[in-house]
Amino acid sequence: MSETQIPNIQGLTTLQAEELQAQFGKNELVSEKKDGFFRKLLDVISEPMFLLLIAAAIIYFILGEPKDGAIMLVFVVAIISIEVIQEWRTDKTLKALRDLSAPRIKVLRDGIEKIINRSDLIPGDVMFVAEGVKIPADGIVIKASTLRVDESSLTGESEAVWKVTAENSKASTGDYWCKDYCYAGTLVTQGTGMILVDKIGQNTEYGKIGKNVMSVPDAPTPLQLQTGKLVKFSGMIAAVFFILVSIVTYFNIPDHMLTDRLIESALSGITLAMAMIPEEFPVILTVFLSMGAWRLAKKQSLVRKLASVETLGAVSVLCVDKTGTITMNQMKVQECWNLAADQQELVWIMGLGCRPDAYDPMEKAMILHCGEQGIARDRLFNGELIKEYPFTDENKMMGQVWNADKGIIVAAKGSPERILTICNLTDAERALSERKINEMSSRGLRVIAVGQMQIKDNMDIPQTIVECNLHLCGLIGLADPPRDSVKQDIATCTRAGVRVVMITGDNGNTASAIAKKIGMPNSDKIITGDELNKMSDDELKERVKNVSIFSRVIPEHKMRIVQAFKSNGEIVAMTGDGVNDAPALKYADIGIAMGKRGSEVSREAADLILLDDNFSTIVDTIKDGRRIYDNIKKAVGYVFTIHIPIALAALFAPLLGISPANLLLLPLHVVLLELVIDPTCSIIMERQPAERNIMNRAPREPQAKLITLANLFKSVLQGLAIFGAAFGAYFMYLNQYPNDAALARTMGLTVILVSNILLVQVNSSNTEFAIRSFIKLVNDKVMLAVNAGTIVGLLVMLYTPLNEFLKLAPLSCEQMLLAIAIACVAVLWYEVVKFINLVLCKKKKLSIFLHIVVK
Ligand code: ADP
Ligand code: MG
Repeated sequence: MSETQIPNIQGLTTLQAEELQAQFGKNELVSEKKDGFFRKLLDVISEPMFLLLIAAAIIYFILGEPKDGAIMLVFVVAIISIEVIQEWRTDKTLKALRDLSAPRIKVLRDGIEKIINRSDLIPGDVMFVAEGVKIPADGIVIKASTLRVDESSLTGESEAVWKVTAENSKASTGDYWCKDYCYAGTLVTQGTGMILVDKIGQNTEYGKIGKNVMSVPDAPTPLQLQTGKLVKFSGMIAAVFFILVSIVTYFNIPDHMLTDRLIESALSGITLAMAMIPEEFPVILTVFLSMGAWRLAKKQSLVRKLASVETLGAVSVLCVDKTGTITMNQMKVQECWNLAADQQELVWIMGLGCRPDAYDPMEKAMILHCGEQGIARDRLFNGELIKEYPFTDENKMMGQVWNADKGIIVAAKGSPERILTICNLTDAERALSERKINEMSSRGLRVIAVGQMQIKDNMDIPQTIVECNLHLCGLIGLADPPRDSVKQDIATCTRAGVRVVMITGDNGNTASAIAKKIGMPNSDKIITGDELNKMSDDELKERVKNVSIFSRVIPEHKMRIVQAFKSNGEIVAMTGDGVNDAPALKYADIGIAMGKRGSEVSREAADLILLDDNFSTIVDTIKDGRRIYDNIKKAVGYVFTIHIPIALAALFAPLLGISPANLLLLPLHVVLLELVIDPTCSIIMERQPAERNIMNRAPREPQAKLITLANLFKSVLQGLAIFGAAFGAYFMYLNQYPNDAALARTMGLTVILVSNILLVQVNSSNTEFAIRSFIKLVNDKVMLAVNAGTIVGLLVMLYTPLNEFLKLAPLSCEQMLLAIAIACVAVLWYEVVKFINLVLCKKKKLSIFLHIVVK
């Protein structure tokens, strides 16, 4: 078939593409709907917190204090803006991530091959498809080389269909589904092809059926559900206290007018409720998870589902492919052992057993080796290829039939276990070969057996490879060295309580030798694919507890392996690149696909795409997952802590019978504090680096709660301390200067704000001292800006005419220093706890050490 017959073989030009896109739109089944700005605003405003805020503002206006009402509104607008900006930022981040992982396709544009997003395909485009590609649009086949497509998603037919070009298809067979046409949503299982796009998006057969058309919205992650519940629970408690405080306030001011009494009591109730609802929690989660995903993407690891970011930190088993992930996938022929044939013939047949257009690193290495032995590529492949026995994962061997100078010969190669079964060998030869196979593989070499068969004139060419009767030429040993960093990564995983499991189609001895080289535990225990077939699920479940190598497996086995680990309660991450790996990737808690060598389908099934195919990146990603989870936990703990003094202040003052006008925190001030808390924690906590021991501890329990009893205890103690300090200062001044509530309040508020700044530093690490986080802070411009902002804000509130609006008073220098000193005591005591912990920990280590020495 000559190329000139096809009119559109140049594909489109960029200009044509733009014009056509304007006409046809995007190649999408559902057009992406955008949440408008107002929709977002409405979402934010309808949160209970904002309803409370607005209610408070309205009450001020009713009270005839429009000034207060106006200030409230200004704050409300500020908080809403912060939240809308945060949401806009996370949306942008998530969209950028989605674009990064958007499926792509190779097309011909402007006469050259280009990779574009699938959604940018338009009718008239010429696209290239290959094994593992999910066809993105309907189109006419214009070139096909052993192109086979699984159309079961459309037709329900499980047998894959061979595709041919229009002139090769026997005129219309009357079938609805054509052989010279490819359909969107179907999967290429073999071969390659060139397709002229005909229909896109909803006009495709797939689009018409409307199957899977509704894309699932991002479901809330487990943590989001957990915090959702927490916020609701807090809301309920807040409601109870709202009523309580309102009633108490009402009876506290019997001398006021009835309407005043009602309004005042509602106001103090609202103040408390506002102080009690931790509305920051959901924000923390989305910000931390999406920022986390964004940071990961910059480190070559693309997260496709937000929930995976949190699951990552809990991964306890890591199942990885040997070739390409643990090893470099840079093969080199290291040894050729010839049985009967001479060395030259062995190399020759090995070369003829490779596909002339080899893309497999192993075959490339073999052809390279032929060249080194003086058999140039052109000379090697100058015969006619008359038949192929394709490689399958089940057979683990392949062959090609050539018509060359010496007549018709079959050149076959593959795993020795399989090749030997179709070879004609004497017992002695067999024993000798098997010894050699063992010897070579236990040195970590990948051993490939090479065999040939002469087809005599009177013989038919065998239909399948297993019908061949080969003559064994010899064995090829290929080296594929482990990646440099793997040894260290395995050690890290072992310390971090993450078991690394090696899965390979290769021989057990080879795998075991490599496992030993890289320091994998249990490197001598192996389960082979055959053993796996015979094992029951229960048996497998027991065996996986201490076996870490699976050899000679096929992709379908991966599913059972994941299942076995999962039923032991493990959180499993698994890598995969092939088409058949997709189900296991979906089923694993974290499915990891390869960005470079993986198939499109495996990428679509995965939760995580490794852009550099590197094992180290997986380990780094797990570490980051732990860091992100840690930081979420810290942020939640911090928010919890800082809410305690605010809520108690709003609760205690009315209970102590302090008149509403003299309260420590008026609604205004609660809002003010909320304004500080939100950015502080979502910016500073999000940026915290990993704890030093983060990879020296076991993965977190998958069911672990964000707020544990121990954390709660810590938060409550810290919160109480700050409350005691702030309220004490306020109460002391109020008693001393009963007519200057503003001064007393300013003391209390300053203590809270300074405590807040310190608390972030103290709580940014569980083990390291605040002084260290302080040093980090000085080096991080963003963190510095946030804190500087808080301090400047405080000064402006106290020392400018604004103070009158805010019902605050300027503090004298001594008063300010006193407030700071009080705050330091109220917060920094926790450093002493850290110190004691450290000493105890050291002592424990020392005693363990002594114990060992004495023994
Ligand atoms: P791995 O898990 O190391 O990637 P594969 O599934 O790629 O293993 O291959 C499994 C086995 O199949 C190899 O050890 C080898 O014996 C055989 N094999 C793989 N590729 C080829 C090939 N192109 N030709 C012949 N045999 C092959
Ligand atoms: Mg492979």
